[in-house]
Amino acid sequence: MVQKRYLVTGGAGFIGSHLVEGLLGQEATHGVTVIDNFDDFYDPAIKWGNVEPHRGFPGWRLVNLDLRDGRGIEEVFRAEAAESGGNAPFDTIVHLAARAGVRPSVADPLLYQEINIGGTVQLLELARRFGVKKFVFASSSSIYGPEASVPFREDAPLSPISPYAATKAAGELFAHTYSHLYGINVICLRFFTVYGPRQRPDLAIHKFARQILRGAPIHVYGDGSAERDFTYIDDILQGVLAAIEYEETRFEIINLGESETISVTGMIMLLEEALGRRAIVEYHRAQPGDLPRTHADIGKARRLLGYRPSTPLRLGIGKFVEWLRSHPSQ
Ligand code: NAD
Repeated sequence: MVQKRYLVTGGAGFIGSHLVEGLLGQEATHGVTVIDNFDDFYDPAIKWGNVEPHRGFPGWRLVNLDLRDGRGIEEVFRAEAAESGGNAPFDTIVHLAARAGVRPSVADPLLYQEINIGGTVQLLELARRFGVKKFVFASSSSIYGPEASVPFREDAPLSPISPYAATKAAGELFAHTYSHLYGINVICLRFFTVYGPRQRPDLAIHKFARQILRGAPIHVYGDGSAERDFTYIDDILQGVLAAIEYEETRFEIINLGESETISVTGMIMLLEEALGRRAIVEYHRAQPGDLPRTHADIGKARRLLGYRPSTPLRLGIGKFVEWLRSHPSQ
């Protein structure tokens, strides 16, 4: 069996830590190197907790480094190339590290540009120089924009309305350029609001659930009619692992969603049901940068990746709440 070496950026984060576990559990995995700077977008202690179970795996390596540190990242590539006998340092880079969050990006676009665009180009450039053949990029449903017709198809025109979304669109374009110029196999995965155990605490399901449990009011921006396509982490993981294996074509952009939508109000009702408590809801003006709806067409993911999401929201929220109750401090 051919053994594979992976670089996972953002491997201490929510999606990244699940992916690292998925990869370490595979027989064909030789090594998983994680680059993450444990940034303070949310409590770094949560990220240190996320990586704790990975320590026992001999193939796992953690490099605590900022993507913007070009020299440091180059050193990682150089050391890994030396270890693999002068071959490419990694078979695949899965680039998940980013400054996430739509609303905060409106307040700090330069930071988002530096990390999300600068960091991505940095990695693509090193992939080119060191001969890495495969690059999987975490993109986002937010790049479709407010006017996109539903369900969102990958060939719809892009219309980002937040700096965060613009950085993800730019990342896709750079990835395309590197694929075209240097033959790197690229897959851009457009994730649709991901939730599940270890979900980022700034995201609605997690944030609302904690506030409902505390009896504190939850803040809904808009009138609650905004629709979201929520995707359970196990389904996302299935799609990312399939994208890593996919080799048929050189460049693809693929939606990973659940392809079912629910209003924010509907989601709150499911949370109330799972938590056995009523929410106190306070409504505020809709926030700039937020989309009125997201809804994935997952036909392409089904066709190319054999993607079959299997966790409807009611079931997924139940599993999330179970996790939350057993991790009250996270
Ligand atoms: P996360 O914040 O939990 O994970 C991102 C990780 O990247 C964190 O551990 C963080 O410390 C690290 N990071 C940030 N800046 C860095 C830097 N300069 N150098 C090195 N590491 C850095 O977020 P997540 O929800 O797991 O998202 C993973 C990826 O998926 C991101 O690219 C995000 O934009 C994208 N995405 C997520 C969702 C979602 O619903 N969670 C939806 C669409 C796209």
